[in-house]
Amino acid sequence: MTTLAASAAAFNMNSLPLPHAAARVVPANQRGLAPEMALPIDLKGKVAFVSGMADPNGYGWAITKALAEAGATIIVGVWPPMLKIFQINLRSGKFDEDMKLPDGSMMKIEKIYPQDAVYDTPDDVPEDIATNKRYSGLDGFTISEVAAKVEADYGKIDILVHSIANGPEVTKPLLEVSRAGYLAASSASAFSMVSLVQRFGPLMNPGGAVISLSYFAAEKTIPGYGGGMSSAKAQLESDTRTLAFEAGRKYGIRVNTISAGPLKSRAATAISAKGEKAFIEFALDYSKANAPMAQDLYNTDVGSSACFLLSPLARAITGMTVYVDNGLHSVGMAVDSNSMAESPIVEATRPKVLTPD
Ligand code: NAD
Repeated sequence: MTTLAASAAAFNMNSLPLPHAAARVVPANQRGLAPEMALPIDLKGKVAFVSGMADPNGYGWAITKALAEAGATIIVGVWPPMLKIFQINLRSGKFDEDMKLPDGSMMKIEKIYPQDAVYDTPDDVPEDIATNKRYSGLDGFTISEVAAKVEADYGKIDILVHSIANGPEVTKPLLEVSRAGYLAASSASAFSMVSLVQRFGPLMNPGGAVISLSYFAAEKTIPGYGGGMSSAKAQLESDTRTLAFEAGRKYGIRVNTISAGPLKSRAATAISAKGEKAFIEFALDYSKANAPMAQDLYNTDVGSSACFLLSPLARAITGMTVYVDNGLHSVGMAVDSNSMAESPIVEATRPKVLTPD
């Protein structure tokens, strides 16, 4: 009997409990493209610019790590309010465990550029930001300035990652959101992607690829995901198609977005008011109770899928919204709802097979 079969046999399949929430972010050193499951992805000699990775609990980190495992040169854009803590954590060794690659080497971040993706040019930066203590000492953090610096440092790049979301009124339902809050969500979470492709597209080698991160709220109502963030994700998915066409024709690059399942990241935790069970905890519970694959979703699942989409293996895939969500997007009726409680379907569809981690 294989180890997996033995552990499944030892497990009473009929007594599998309906899963409940636990921390779903696994330290990146514990998972990743483990040697035995490594894809034949070779990104040696490719330069990847990642915008929106500042701590190991997010999707940006896992994508960066997968790209590093595949051999890409990593350069990153970090949001100025996160820059100092990011640099301190890097220097102090706090991230060391999460930077370990399966071969024992450390993920190398070759260069860090302060970058605020809501500003395209220096003229866009308002006085209160220019003089803010988190920004005042920084040189050139707008998207066009960062693109110019990357061009000066590296000439061309091959991979562009947008892992950014920000909605100041995310806890408010759309019925209550202000115009300013709605437009801020759109600016930081959707137009930032358009602007990045506008400015970095000309620096990208033909055959290069772009990825962003979307969420199912773009296409179906997800109560609690407010502040115009659902609208921003709908824009992001629509823009993915249009940018794929335009940038495909103009620069020979591909543009895709991953519609990711819930992950307890820093940004996702901010969706709820402090002290309450967070939106993301409910989303995790719901996913595990109702998705076709009743298993935890790790940020590394998105990391490895993104790595594939950004590699030459996916050279004919563009303009796509690719779901990496344990299949939750395909389900139309929640089996864990109160109204289904008496239904035999609940018992009949209880998870019966353990998936290997
Ligand atoms: P995260 O907190 O790790 O990442 C968000 C990043 O956005 C942070 O690094 C932050 O510094 C950056 N950022 C915010 N405003 C910025 C700005 N103005 N300029 C530059 N950077 C800015 O959280 P995450 O959940 O991993 O989010 C990454 C992406 O994944 C987002 O697009 C998010 O919507 C998407 N996503 C997340 C989930 C989830 O459940 N966590 C699900 C689906 C999609």
